[in-house]
Amino acid sequence: MHASTDLRPDLHRLDPFASPDQADPVLRDFLHRASDLLCDWIGTASKGVPLPTVRPQPAVAPTAAGLGMDRLLKDLQLVMEGAYQPSHPGALAHLDPPPLTASIAADLICAGLNNNLLAEELSPGLTDLEQQLCSWFCQRLGLPDQSGGVLASGGTLSNLMGLVVARTHAGVRDGVVLCSRDAHVSLQKAATVMGLPDQALQQLPVDSDGGLDLAALDAALSALRRDGRCCLAVVATAGTTVRGAVDPLDAIARLCRRERVWLHVDAAIGGVFALWEPLAPLMEGLHQADSITLNPQKLLGITKTSSMLLLRDRSKLRDAFSTGLPYMESPCSVDHGGEVGLQGTRPAEVLKLWLGLRQLGIEGIGAVLESALERKAVLKRLLADDRLLVLDGGLHLLALRPRQDDPAGSASWTEQTRQLLMREGFLLSRPSYDGHYWLKVVLGNPHTTSSHLQQLAGLISQQLQLTH
Ligand SMILES: *Cc1c(COP(=O)(O)O)cnc(C)c1O
Repeated sequence: MHASTDLRPDLHRLDPFASPDQADPVLRDFLHRASDLLCDWIGTASKGVPLPTVRPQPAVAPTAAGLGMDRLLKDLQLVMEGAYQPSHPGALAHLDPPPLTASIAADLICAGLNNNLLAEELSPGLTDLEQQLCSWFCQRLGLPDQSGGVLASGGTLSNLMGLVVARTHAGVRDGVVLCSRDAHVSLQKAATVMGLPDQALQQLPVDSDGGLDLAALDAALSALRRDGRCCLAVVATAGTTVRGAVDPLDAIARLCRRERVWLHVDAAIGGVFALWEPLAPLMEGLHQADSITLNPQKLLGITKTSSMLLLRDRSKLRDAFSTGLPYMESPCSVDHGGEVGLQGTRPAEVLKLWLGLRQLGIEGIGAVLESALERKAVLKRLLADDRLLVLDGGLHLLALRPRQDDPAGSASWTEQTRQLLMREGFLLSRPSYDGHYWLKVVLGNPHTTSSHLQQLAGLISQQLQLTH
């Protein structure tokens, strides 16, 4: 191709598209300066608070002439100042840990490549990488050779796809989905989107540990069989959102086999524990699932979004989602990304997952998981107090409230305590669960040290002292 010299871009202007003829100095400068902003933002996290109280408002609408780099960087800076800060050691509210370094870099490259996982010719190497990495996850979880999966922009989508695949497999239009009362709200969305009748999602009781009650599941399955109704799927949860409880996967799998019912495991939170052998027993039975949702964006710190749906038999994805994709060349060796999932155009989210895991290594993955459980154990010891009710489902999160409070009492205590903690630089969340408000602590933040935990427990017990 021939580059005409008189059409060379003016290097002092911000050319909207980087030159294909040379390493574009404007792009380079922009990326360097934007990276500096980001490094400063992360590198000063502990001096601020997890949730900034001032929310600077950048101008929203594009200006007539377009802006230069300085103004754009200033705008970015404004947004960063008002953003949630996951790298603050007191950011303990949600399943949103600090971003992995390699993941950040890979996300940048992903944007620059601007490939499209819709079709193989728009993302040749990346399509293959995604399918291979999904297969690696399957192997690691103990699924059989014909297993595989697809990445999705979030666990909500993975769960939806899992249920759509289950329904296609069942060959019916509607039927019942059984899950526990503590299953994720995304299943309600899935039922709505799938057009399932009201009451199709049956939420069963949990036992005292927060796991799906087996007797209730057994009874529900038997009742469906007796009434001649179709059960599309049983959804077991491996890591519930409020207390991190894991349903009894092995026993549930046995019931599903007996009834020939699809088992989907929503392991959005807990699935990663199966990657590290010493902790894999926490996910015992997971390998028997027909489909699994797993969110590396949660505990591992892969930048958002990073979720996957893994299938015991990967051809079921094609059965559910293939359209023939008439405007694309047939793929060489693998499936088009758009033919094995619900999303059409999507970015190569595999890059940040792949590079992040390569950076951690198996031992690094283990260290992230072990240290999260260790922080949970430390905090639980520090919180040992008869006045507190603490729910611990065995993973890296806890929920707590004063034992004796009635719902109004726990509502105000958790609100006051959350505000107090926020002023001290700790962000906990305040979910409503089982008729009460709770304070939820997620110990997935690698920057939280035991002295932070001591300070946190001290503040909680001080507050308890004042109020109980
Ligand atoms: C987070 C979560 C989801 C949904 O994942 P998103 O990525 O937020 O869409 C589903 N199930 C469980 C158990 C979760 O914790």
